[in-house]
Amino acid sequence: MGIINVLDFSVANLIAAGEVVDRPASVIKELLENSIDAGADDITVEIKRGGITFMRVTDNGKGISKEDLPIAVKRHATSKIHNAGDLDSILTLGFRGEALAAIASVSKLRIMSKTADSEVGHILESEGGSVKGIIEAGCANGTTVIVENLFENVPARLKFLKKDVTEAMAVSAYVEKIALSRPDISIKLIIDGNMKFMTSGDSKLYNVIYVLFGRDFAKRLIPVDNRSDGVHVFGYVGAPDNIRANRNFQNFFINHRFIKSKTVSAALEQAYSAFIPSDKFPCAILNIDINPALVDVNVHPAKLEVKFSNEKLVFEAVYSTVRQALESKIQRPEFNINPKGDRISAADYMKRLNSFIPVSDGKREKTEQLEFAARTPIPEYRRPESTPVVSPMQNESAVPSGYRSPEPNFERAEYSAPVTPHKCDAAVHDEPKADVSSLTENEPPAPFEAPFVPSSQPVTRHEPEPKSAVSAPKSEIADGEPEYIVPEYRIIGEAFYSYVFVETGDSVLIIDKHAAHERIIFEQLKNNLKKKKVISQMLLVPIDVVMTDAEAVAISEYADELKQTGFEFEIYGNTVSITETPIELDSDGVVPMIQTIAGRLADGTGNVTVSRDIIYEKALFQASCKAAVKIGHIHDAEHLKWICERVLALDIIKFCPHGRPVAFELTKHDFERQFKRV
Ligand code: ADP
Ligand code: MG
Repeated sequence: MGIINVLDFSVANLIAAGEVVDRPASVIKELLENSIDAGADDITVEIKRGGITFMRVTDNGKGISKEDLPIAVKRHATSKIHNAGDLDSILTLGFRGEALAAIASVSKLRIMSKTADSEVGHILESEGGSVKGIIEAGCANGTTVIVENLFENVPARLKFLKKDVTEAMAVSAYVEKIALSRPDISIKLIIDGNMKFMTSGDSKLYNVIYVLFGRDFAKRLIPVDNRSDGVHVFGYVGAPDNIRANRNFQNFFINHRFIKSKTVSAALEQAYSAFIPSDKFPCAILNIDINPALVDVNVHPAKLEVKFSNEKLVFEAVYSTVRQALESKIQRPEFNINPKGDRISAADYMKRLNSFIPVSDGKREKTEQLEFAARTPIPEYRRPESTPVVSPMQNESAVPSGYRSPEPNFERAEYSAPVTPHKCDAAVHDEPKADVSSLTENEPPAPFEAPFVPSSQPVTRHEPEPKSAVSAPKSEIADGEPEYIVPEYRIIGEAFYSYVFVETGDSVLIIDKHAAHERIIFEQLKNNLKKKKVISQMLLVPIDVVMTDAEAVAISEYADELKQTGFEFEIYGNTVSITETPIELDSDGVVPMIQTIAGRLADGTGNVTVSRDIIYEKALFQASCKAAVKIGHIHDAEHLKWICERVLALDIIKFCPHGRPVAFELTKHDFERQFKRV
């Protein structure tokens, strides 16, 4: 005798229900989607005990007629599609016709509904999947679905539910997503009798974000809106100071449906790669509108994951939209003396001042600094005129006309500081290269001839050559470099051999010299790629760098881009023999830079969704760090001036390629507020 049974209808339903309904949040998801598909613009969700004992969703949608009520709770009963062809152009959230049947089979369900053309409404009652009856009821247009005692008839599933609060949180998270996906619908969430939130339904996404995540989050957002190749990307992304330790704040909606997508996440994160640290994640509320025929939403029963027929198209659209917005809209970070924004009390000020006043034994470290401050004459300060001047920055030795050296000039004042350079608490720090004690007022450090005089140090195959063996750059002036507008400024000094203080207009910029230099190199090398003619410096003795197989292959694959950046090289087996380097690079930086580029390129190749431009750019900014000046090292005034001018002139230089801020801005008003003058 055969052993295969055709399952009882109710058992089959229970099994199917498991796919759609596994916890209260998934019930709420299905009910909310039905309300939205019914055209509602006002929806209230109410749950008790995490939804396990009670869930109610009320909408003002088109309602369900008396005839349709018993059909709605049957499996594969839907009004949303009619044939297989309709699957290609789904614009509703539901289409499987499974949800109500699934929910009905695992709970006590009541559906109260009235259509506009009916005088009265009707209530359908069902328990454990069987319809108990339909009765007439007076009610408003729309539908109310009440689900009670979820999984009472499936104790095994009940066991898997988490604590009430956890289930409530999952419900809340889902309702939030729906609210974000539809700012044109007013959505109210009530948990155990308390209103959690209510959105206005005024169609403004910003207002929904404000209601859900608060003012502080909302004000640190950048709007994005761009159409390309039939893909419309719009919404908000977090400013670089609005970042998280995980991806929980990444909300993506395809055609107003909340989805999870590795492609979209990757595109977003790539776009931020030069703006935020690599171990942090950007926030986003991003809508992607695309022809439904290009998206397959049928791949996951809970419809959270989608498949794009052209992943690359979506990747590029998201990447370029977010990247453009970041590049054009970000502001220089404000320096927040008092992060909470409230005023510091006078008592607090006293505490801080006291810590600087020498104690009687005179041993406190700060004493030295105070004495120094007392000895140092305050330089006469002439306020610069406010009109910006054009400075041809190609000529490194020319002092820009906007720059006035105060008396005594800052070079000398800066290096007469009696403090010994020390390690700083930042990502890059090394022992100072020069001994400060040898620097006296009469002997300021020899200024750099030019910021990047090549002084090659051959590695591996060749004997080290003296500096003079290296040829001079082919040209000091980079080809076709634009003229930069440098606002008037005054370098006040440098703290800890790391942070340069610059006064310009009504603000003081505090510039991290390593971060700034890193960004400058990155921008220049990137710029080389766009230029037709790149000026390189030729090395008399080639530098050989031994690599792994994969790295050498990656270098040969990206040979064109590398050569356009300013490198010239030959590859012998695993050895890359460099003969020319970009003019921007100091020789010390060449080997670590090429090694980093090779490593990064080797990691990136084989990733089909990410374009080669992006892989190369990423490799370039990782590598720029290696060639930048280090904090804690002494650099002469010319060099600092060179860095400051570029930070002031190039608007893009706000974050280093690794996403750390390059400069903080403190306005005159901030000073006045801190000193209680306003
Ligand atoms: P699906 O949403 O996939 O069509 P469901 O089982 O969720 O399947 O719903 C079955 C049908 O019941 C829907 O197609 C719709 O016609 C009707 N329906 C369900 N909820 C509502 C509602 N809130 N307002 C109006 N009609 C509804
Ligand atoms: Mg549905």
